[in-house]
Formats: sequence, structure tokens, C-alpha cells
Amino acid sequence: MKKTNFLILPLAFALLQSCAANLSYTGSPFKKSFESITSEELKTHLYIVASDEMEGRDTGSEGQKKAGRYLIEQYQKMGVSHPQSMKNYYQTVPKEALNGRRGSLPESENILAFIEGTQKPEEVIVISAHYDHVGMSNGDIYNGADDDGSGTVALLEIAEAFQKAKKAGNGPKRSILFLHVTGEEHGLLGSKYYAENPVFPLANTVADLNIDMIGRCDPGNCGKDYVYAIGSEMLSSELKKINEAANKATVNLELNYKYDDPNDKDRLYYRSDHYNFAKNGIPVIFYFDGIHEDYHKPTDTSDKIDYAALRKRAQLVFATAWELANRKERIAVDKK
Ligand SMILES: [Zn+2]
Repeated sequence: MKKTNFLILPLAFALLQSCAANLSYTGSPFKKSFESITSEELKTHLYIVASDEMEGRDTGSEGQKKAGRYLIEQYQKMGVSHPQSMKNYYQTVPKEALNGRRGSLPESENILAFIEGTQKPEEVIVISAHYDHVGMSNGDIYNGADDDGSGTVALLEIAEAFQKAKKAGNGPKRSILFLHVTGEEHGLLGSKYYAENPVFPLANTVADLNIDMIGRCDPGNCGKDYVYAIGSEMLSSELKKINEAANKATVNLELNYKYDDPNDKDRLYYRSDHYNFAKNGIPVIFYFDGIHEDYHKPTDTSDKIDYAALRKRAQLVFATAWELANRKERIAVDKK
């Protein structure tokens, strides 16, 4: 007996260890998925999502709906469905919920794609980006390649990366919701609607990683490998550390916390969709490249995107989400 025990215990321990190592940043499942996020694919998607054909993707416009159909086609191609409780990928946002800064808007849609967790499917990590932009004005098309075409196509690549792992038997332990929200430019309206009508209970929503502009640089940072990370230590003492560890193990960007100050005059913590999660006590990180000369101008076009930077920032979000989805305990909400 003793002898057998001696043999079995180390073996069992070794097996456990190899399972744990299997989903680490150095393991091949992570690496294969991580490498599947490419500049070429991001570029291909972005040239379509931010093309003139989409007419600036104003909330409720035909151009926005066309961009939305493109996103859904991509999820269908990669075999990623919508949440089971929904009949399709659309969460209709009624026009009553879309009274924005510039008056009332037509009915519009959030788009939801979902990868179910293998061990804790009820716990959900949200990765969000808005797919609306400001439309057209005086004959100019506001393509919104960076704002927020960049976040929109990053979601596609991150979803593909998780799906690749899932197909190989290494799917995320917790579920991942890819949330493309509408109405952001009119006052964060699509994410507000989601937070008031969540498809998964907010109590089971572990974190929101929100991407809004990650394909350019701002004047103070051009030439650097960086990203602004906003809000990561507001609600959880663990999230900032996880993001930093993910970054260090992978793309090693300079994480800039300039906008993390609640008294910052630009108030960026309140200015994108993550805020509708944060105000409900859900830890968030907002990934952002800064304000540049083409911000909210017709010149925010696909040819000006730094695709190498877009790739690295998308990979960082993927790596952070990977850890949030696969770690043993969900992150604590221990700060106010
Ligand atoms: Zn934006």
C-alpha cells in the first residue's frame, strides 16, 4: 500500500500541475490562440467595418445595421453563437431608450456573441466595444476607424482566439460575452440599456473589459508601445495586478495610468461603456489610446491605424480575459 501511494501521489500531483500549466501563458493552448490575433485579420475586418459603405455607423442607421450584419457573419463563420436565451444575436434597444444628446433616435441593436464556460458557465466576463459612430455630416462620412472600429474588430479577433482554444478542448472555464453596443456616441445608451436589461445577471458578471479606441497614438505617446488602462483598481484590488501580469507575460506595453485619477479633467472613467458596469459594482478596465488629431473627424480612417499596435493591445485584452476566465476564484470586488 505504502509503495503504491508513493507512486500514485506524485503522479496525481504531476497531472494536476500539468493541467494547471496547460492554461498558463507559457502553455501552448494560450500561445496558439494569442498568435491567432493578427494585424492582417484586424486590418481586413477594419477596412470593411469602417468603410464608406457603412456611412459612419450612426445609431439606428442602415450603415450601422450593415456593419452589424458583417459582425454577425464573422461570428457565424467562426462558430460562435449568441447567448442561448436569445433567439438571435440582437438585443433590440427600443427608441424610448435612445433619447440621446442630439434628440431621439430610431430603434437600434446591441449585438451579443457568447462562448459558454466549461466549468463555471454562469460566471461571465464581458468584453465590450461600441460599433456605432457619429454618421455623416455635410456630405462627409465619419468612418470612425479608431473610434471604435478598432475595438469592434478586436472583439472579433479575441472571440476567434477563444473559440480556437475551445475547439481544441481548452475553452474558457467561465463564459465570455462579446458585447457590441450601440448608441455610445449619443451618451453610452446601448450599454446603459444592457446594464438595465442584462442577459446574464449582473451579480454573475465578473468584469467588463471595454475597448474604445486602440489603433492610434496620442501626441504625447507616438512612437511608444503603450496603452492607457483606466479604472482597473477602482473596484477590485486584483484586476490591475492581473492586467499587469498578463501584459508582462505577453506584449509588455507601457501601461499608462494618467487618466486613472478620479479628479482628472477629462473624466475618461465616465466616458465609455464600461461605466455602466462600474456603476453597478462590476470591476472594469477601459483600454484607450488617447485623444488624437482625427478624433471625431471625417479623417479617422482605416489607413491611419497602426495595425501592429492594434494587434498588441487586442492581445493584451485577450490575455487578461484568459486569466479572468480561467483562474480558480473569480476576482474579488473589495473596493468602493
Ligand atoms: Zn468611442
